[in-house]
Amino acid sequence: MTATDTRTEATDDHASSTTTGTPIRPGRMETDRLARRVSVAEGRERKDITSPLNGAVIGEIPLGTSEDVAAAVAEARRVQRRWAETPVKERAAVLLRYHDLVLEHQDELLDLIQAENGKARVWAFEEIMDQAVTARYYARLAPRALRPSIRMTAMPGLVSTREHHVPKGVVGVISPWNYPLVLAVSDALAALVAGNAIVIKPDSQTPFTALRAFELLEEAGLPEGLVQVVTGPGTKVGKAIIEATDYVMFTGSTATGKAIASQAAERLIGFSAELGGKNAMIITADADLDRAVEGATVGCFANTGQLCISIERIYVDQAIASTFTNRFAERVASLTLSADQEYGPEVGSLASAAQLEKMREHVTDAEDKGARIVTGGKARPEIGPFFYEPTVLTDVTEDMDVYAEETFGPLVSIYPVSTIDDAVRAANDTEYGLNASVYSSDTKKARAIAVRLMAGTVNINDGYSSAWATIDAPMGGMKASGVGRRHGREGLLKYTESQTIAVRSATAEKIQTPGTDPVGYARRFTKILKAAKHLPR
Ligand code: NAD
Repeated sequence: MTATDTRTEATDDHASSTTTGTPIRPGRMETDRLARRVSVAEGRERKDITSPLNGAVIGEIPLGTSEDVAAAVAEARRVQRRWAETPVKERAAVLLRYHDLVLEHQDELLDLIQAENGKARVWAFEEIMDQAVTARYYARLAPRALRPSIRMTAMPGLVSTREHHVPKGVVGVISPWNYPLVLAVSDALAALVAGNAIVIKPDSQTPFTALRAFELLEEAGLPEGLVQVVTGPGTKVGKAIIEATDYVMFTGSTATGKAIASQAAERLIGFSAELGGKNAMIITADADLDRAVEGATVGCFANTGQLCISIERIYVDQAIASTFTNRFAERVASLTLSADQEYGPEVGSLASAAQLEKMREHVTDAEDKGARIVTGGKARPEIGPFFYEPTVLTDVTEDMDVYAEETFGPLVSIYPVSTIDDAVRAANDTEYGLNASVYSSDTKKARAIAVRLMAGTVNINDGYSSAWATIDAPMGGMKASGVGRRHGREGLLKYTESQTIAVRSATAEKIQTPGTDPVGYARRFTKILKAAKHLPR
């Protein structure tokens, strides 16, 4: 495990510096400017935001209250009325301009993502790609998908019916810290193009990326005030958002998802929840081992393993288990760790002390109960306060925390299996059902395994990115991993109410009314119903 750079805590008021004097980008002036965009009243208590790269303060945000949320929702609602009347094509054009702005300003966004989340730059770039793909996709889909569509009526020719898609109104977005750009903004893009306003609470640790992205959206033509960012604790600001908005898009832990679901149920509002996972990879005996080793490395350790769809369990055919484990361990040990804000390093920091603690707990508990650490297993404070080596375990048993609990860090357990049935059974033996992966040289066989897995996405010969990047296909979790889907038409239409508008013709008036002859009416309709069965649709 190689460290290519080291940083120490900075004392500078304006930027936090490394040992080599390289300041963390952006500096304090930029984060202070962004903090002024938050929709929170003057004089509220403030919270320091520290960078996981070196533990230094990079900015501060105000802690909002339920009054701030109420004011933000009222303002968003006011602006939304005009936005809903703006032609869909014009709304879509804003997303296309945003697409260009994100690509143009990518370095700035990458700096912000790294500064507040600590991930390696290459994984921050995944977030840029996701923005571009999502903005382009929904800009192109929305005019088609939101157009009123003609529906088949009970009495063709006598009634003409159209289905309309009416925006929900104000959508509340509550997002976590692991993908500060994607999870705060991508779902909002679909909601916005559908004609909604947004009130968002980004995670308190990662507010600045979201603030800059929504600023770029305004530069792209989004009306001022349509997106309101309220920072503060989930238990206050998050709760108040569910209290006042018309639909909630939540991404975060399963525990919080359950609390949000019951609060939304009280108000009878819809919600979508993208929750935790304990994702499995199955490697069959005929898999291409080079591809499996590289795929598992990325699948487990991209984003420092803090990815809801990353792999935490590998079930490998026992015929190749030791070869795979050795080659995988060698590749994992070669990964470069660094707090650098440049391309090059493969693994960044964990996002917080809590994440580091969870890693430590899972590894110590497993080791104490007899698991073997094949590679990794140590914190690396000399690189940054929350760095931890990518770690591979074997000999993991059911009594260990890591067996069933989501670690949400750079930790994976390898289990040899003797049959595909055993692999499928073990992969499904979890409360979660978010993502899975199958490695095999026989695509037909891999597909047959995939359909037996209880997971919202299954990637064949890949860890997670193929299904994620297929934005036209729904993405989300089965079982305790979620409710609803993002991406695809579903990811757009969930932000709308379907409204059916039916027009009855004058002829229908004559035929369809019982009037003074209910017997004749029933006879007439019996004939019509019998004939209707023979119509093609
Ligand atoms: P978390 O549930 O603790 O927090 C997520 C967000 O919810 C934060 O903004 C937080 O402030 C807010 N929140 C907390 N309590 C709340 C409450 N009672 N009411 C309203 N809002 C509240 O999750 P986390 O630890 O920040 O994120 C990690 C988890 O998120 C992992 O379990 C991971 O698997 C999951 N995740 C899922 C996806 C997905 O797409 N399925 C994506 C990323 C992360």
